[in-house]
Amino acid sequence: MQDIFTTQEEYGYLLLTRSKLAKVQRTVGYGKFNLISFDETLTIAKNSPKIGEFTNGEIAFLEKIFYDNPNKYGFYGIKTAEKLTDSINKSDTIKINGTGHYLFRGKSYENYNRILKDVGRDIVLTSGIRSIPKQMSLYLDKIYTSKGNISEASRVIAPPTYTHHAISDFDVGKKGFGNKNFSTYFTTTEEFKNLIKLNYVSIRYTENNKDGVIYEPWHIQVV
Ligand SMILES: [Zn+2]
Repeated sequence: MQDIFTTQEEYGYLLLTRSKLAKVQRTVGYGKFNLISFDETLTIAKNSPKIGEFTNGEIAFLEKIFYDNPNKYGFYGIKTAEKLTDSINKSDTIKINGTGHYLFRGKSYENYNRILKDVGRDIVLTSGIRSIPKQMSLYLDKIYTSKGNISEASRVIAPPTYTHHAISDFDVGKKGFGNKNFSTYFTTTEEFKNLIKLNYVSIRYTENNKDGVIYEPWHIQVV
């Protein structure tokens, strides 16, 4: 299968929407952006002279990305959202102090606390719940750094309609390990070695997984 790139027109919209989403994130704050809905994003942009209303063309581009079938990019995961406007019920979430991230109450939060207890205080939440605008923003950033290669981006990050961060999963890493937590370096840490010994922990994107995503030893599957 050949890699698919954005058209020139799409790339133009990618630059515009990516920049607006980043400005919305700066306005609401890093943590809160993880929970924000698409409609809230539009309202914040519209009400801020520094951002400016999303145009019809920009919205159409984001809709296209969201409702696109990513099989053609080699991504085969299951859908975790139905509509671009799906929102997160904030009362179902809990803020994890010192991380800028949130987890869903119930199984995700319980598993995270069990991990902290069993692995020790050097393991930390590196990404929890991701709203649709948040995942959209990460996905567009990846297409941008991949120079418009949507297939390449889809191998390293789930498209916004398909992220399990929207419903349950979370990422962990070693404290102070920075970006190395999002690489196979993480597997060299004591924390990872202890993590995978736990019988209630499974890694969603294992080596050669059927979803077409790279090996992500940091991504914890919940349910
Ligand atoms: Zn993840």
